[in-house]
Amino acid sequence: MTDDARVYPQRPREVEPRGPADLAAGLNEAQARAATHPDGPLLVIAGAGTGKTRTLVHRVALLLERGIRPERILLLTFTRRSAQEMLARAERLVGSVSRSVHGGTFHATAHRLLRRYGEAAGLPAGFTIMDQSDAGDLMQLSRAKLGLGEKKKRFPKKETLHHVYSRHVNTEIPVAAILSEEYPQFVEFEEEFGRVFADYTARKAERNLVDYDDLLLFWAMLVETDGPLAQRISGLYDHILVDEYQDTNHLQSRILRGMCRTHANLTVVGDDAQSIYSFRGATIRNILDFPHHFPGAAIVPLEENYRSTQPILDCTNTLISRAEERYTKNLYTHRTGGEKPWLVTAHDEPAQTRFVVDRLLELHEEGVPLREMAVLFRAGYMSADLEIELTARGIPFEKWGGLKFLEAAHVKDVLAFLRVLENPRDDVSWYRLLMLMPGIGDVTARGAIDAMAQLAWSSDAFGRYQPPPRARAAHGALVELLDQLRAGPAEADGLVTHEIARVRRLYDDILRERYDRVEPRLADLDQLQTISGGYSSRAAFLSAIALEPPQATQDLGFGSGSEDDTLVLSTAHSAKGREWDAVFVIWAVDGYFPMARALGDDEQIEEERRLMYVAMTRARNHLFITYPLNVYDTRRGSDYSIDQLSRFLDRGVRETMQRVVVDAGEATPPAAEPAAPPVVDLRAMLRGRFGA
Ligand code: ATP
Ligand code: MG
Repeated sequence: MTDDARVYPQRPREVEPRGPADLAAGLNEAQARAATHPDGPLLVIAGAGTGKTRTLVHRVALLLERGIRPERILLLTFTRRSAQEMLARAERLVGSVSRSVHGGTFHATAHRLLRRYGEAAGLPAGFTIMDQSDAGDLMQLSRAKLGLGEKKKRFPKKETLHHVYSRHVNTEIPVAAILSEEYPQFVEFEEEFGRVFADYTARKAERNLVDYDDLLLFWAMLVETDGPLAQRISGLYDHILVDEYQDTNHLQSRILRGMCRTHANLTVVGDDAQSIYSFRGATIRNILDFPHHFPGAAIVPLEENYRSTQPILDCTNTLISRAEERYTKNLYTHRTGGEKPWLVTAHDEPAQTRFVVDRLLELHEEGVPLREMAVLFRAGYMSADLEIELTARGIPFEKWGGLKFLEAAHVKDVLAFLRVLENPRDDVSWYRLLMLMPGIGDVTARGAIDAMAQLAWSSDAFGRYQPPPRARAAHGALVELLDQLRAGPAEADGLVTHEIARVRRLYDDILRERYDRVEPRLADLDQLQTISGGYSSRAAFLSAIALEPPQATQDLGFGSGSEDDTLVLSTAHSAKGREWDAVFVIWAVDGYFPMARALGDDEQIEEERRLMYVAMTRARNHLFITYPLNVYDTRRGSDYSIDQLSRFLDRGVRETMQRVVVDAGEATPPAAEPAAPPVVDLRAMLRGRFGA
């Protein structure tokens, strides 16, 4: 039946043209100035919720209105989803023409350009993108080949090697400087680092692999050269707009300079107080140096906040006023009313969880949809207890960021099958896959890889390899599977889902053999299959998966999707740029937020403070900060400790909040600050409310 199904065509969306004056109508004077700015560089530097993103949307709409062709506009955002949302909003202003605007992340755009122009620059088509952990694995091969693993016991691990490499590439800080700054214990190995990186680079070239950092690096290099190719690429766009500019790094700034060589029509918006990715090489110097890199740049500050109530702003303004360096101003709003943010002390983690669930149900009953509420935390694992409770109470939620889904061993196993089909030279994936097979061990796996290399990785190389007797059955099964998949079409609806299903006919049994906790793992694979439904070719699917930035897994659309009424649980990082009616920030405990590993380092503490600021400024009407007093935590050596409230919530900040203690029945009153301002007994309020 589906074969001859009729296609229902989408009609072009016509919207009454509004005209420039009208398009600027939803903006205040400063925002309108930015949105209607004529050609030339423009920097909007402004605090949270002042309408930076909204201004960008209107600017895109106005450019289209002015007759700029949509495919000559590039909108760069931090996640794929935010580009989609911004273009959907532009569509409401100017109609479906906005759909042809090029929007996406820097990495995805780099990927698109390299697929199209890379070959002319010596990057063979059909390259495979490695994710962070693949890159680490490849680094490990280099480390082992150079004999640095065994002999030198103190030689850094693959993660450290990759971190230093990535930081060097993204920031251009010399390796020696990174070592003495971050890893003084490894300074003596500077020369070895260089050798590992050289080998790693050669390996990537041999195998036609491209790592995450290469995407940006190649793009930068392409547009910095002289000659027709660079001109062609930098001539692709007449206008480039960038959201969240504070979280771009040095390479990204080079890319923008290269892309804007001829026209300088670059609009960037950002907030230095929300810079939270310096651990990945982002630098607020990009904002500060913008006028220098783009002489004549117009600078538009925005100070009116449209998101939050004044009591919430009083609290967040105070919090960020403690930051050491800061360029954006305090924010104000014309919104009136609203209650002070709550600072909620809970006896322990279960009490914290109960508070969050009770309070969100209460708000829900008052008419706030679940999708207008979010629970934010410093790191993904901190929501475990809450997730269990939400599941038990049947409250739907989706979780953003911090998901190790794509890095989970069983997910990577399945992807390895698809990857060797896509790129037969991908020996990291071959090794992973061979080691899964019963009867194949390290020696056989390496032997098979050598044999394939000798046959120049031809597609029948694995079939021609003669395995030792023990491995024959596994070899046969694998050859059959790969042959079947190779025989399929290159592109078809549901193709990847079908391929994963076929892989699982072999793999699910292996999974049951090798891993504990089988059921959730199988559910992950179901999930992977669901995600793959949106892709009609293996190459597109693998690229999309690899391009997913580690902190922004929401892009893949986990959970039941934003159409439904679903609560959001998110890391603070992944909540960037978003807003909700009610926001809960949990685990406001020193050692949790800020994270323990930041405690000794002033710069890291500053970044954690900005991250807390990002989290708290997501709230429109209700903000709840919670912390458990007693933490049962074996990770920290002791089983039990009395915890300190996050250092960011100092006395001045607390004065802008109302203190609430959760009555946990057996709970003792909070030990900290007995003379605290008025205490509201939430449980009692709830009891009263439900007439119990
Ligand atoms: P962040 O720094 O968190 O990314 P932002 O500066 O990008 O924030 P937006 O998300 O664009 O701010 O805007 C915050 C909220 O204020 C949105 O709901 C937006 O629609 C609203 N808003 C912004 N400007 C106006 C305005 N002039 N009139 C009415 N609402 C506005
Ligand atoms: Mg924004």
